[in-house]
Amino acid sequence: MNVQKSYRNFLNKEDRAMSDQLKEILKNSKYKHDGRSIIACDLSLLKIEPSINTKYSILNDENKEINLGISYTHDVSSSEFKAEFLPRGESFNRKVAFLDRDGILIEDTDYPGKVEDVIFKEDVIPLLQTLIHKKYELIVVTNQSGIARGKYTENDYQETTKYITDYYKSIGFTILDTFYCPYHIDGSITKYKSQSLLRKPMPGMVIKAAEKYQVDLSKSIMIGDKMSDILKCSYLKYFIKNNNEHPDCFKSFEKMTQAILKL
Ligand SMILES: [Mg+2]
Repeated sequence: MNVQKSYRNFLNKEDRAMSDQLKEILKNSKYKHDGRSIIACDLSLLKIEPSINTKYSILNDENKEINLGISYTHDVSSSEFKAEFLPRGESFNRKVAFLDRDGILIEDTDYPGKVEDVIFKEDVIPLLQTLIHKKYELIVVTNQSGIARGKYTENDYQETTKYITDYYKSIGFTILDTFYCPYHIDGSITKYKSQSLLRKPMPGMVIKAAEKYQVDLSKSIMIGDKMSDILKCSYLKYFIKNNNEHPDCFKSFEKMTQAILKL
């Protein structure tokens, strides 16, 4: 049997008959179900590389679809894909607005990696107020290849993060946490020269956050200013500002805010 083909067919719902085959495979792998739709499953036995841009589900005995979550890896500095599933369930109920940092919370100047580089954005404030009004918690997810490129150190980054977080706290916005990716394949610092599933558009940072804070990704949104902020994670809704590459992008925070108010 061509496992990869049948699995993808199943995911695409093009061939429901494949579900029995998949269930058989799952039965013989580390498949667990605690009765509340919290499912952990190691599909690495399938020897496939499933798309992380796909919703995973199986059919239960009543032929109803059970959502399995999305696949991810624990080996964040490697591009190797180990397929497991994000646990989901009743306790995963926090609603988060994931925020890109540069171009959203601060001006995207040339690798702003030190406190003195930070220029806060004024026009994002009404958007942040709306997010709080809509009961979103705020988590920052930021690519920081400047660390890999040797433009600033991880310590500089940490100081900058504290500065930004403290500033927003002082004007009434609590940033729950900040996740960052210091890796880049073209880096000059050996320690950080690698591909990473943390680096957007890969969804590693969001998945780490979801695990740490029990976030319901299906109720959460991502706000950014580049196409790479549209993550390979189909659960989130995406709001991208000022990017003409795609017709769905917003020209201003104001227009984005109007759309978020309608959620
Ligand atoms: Mg940005």
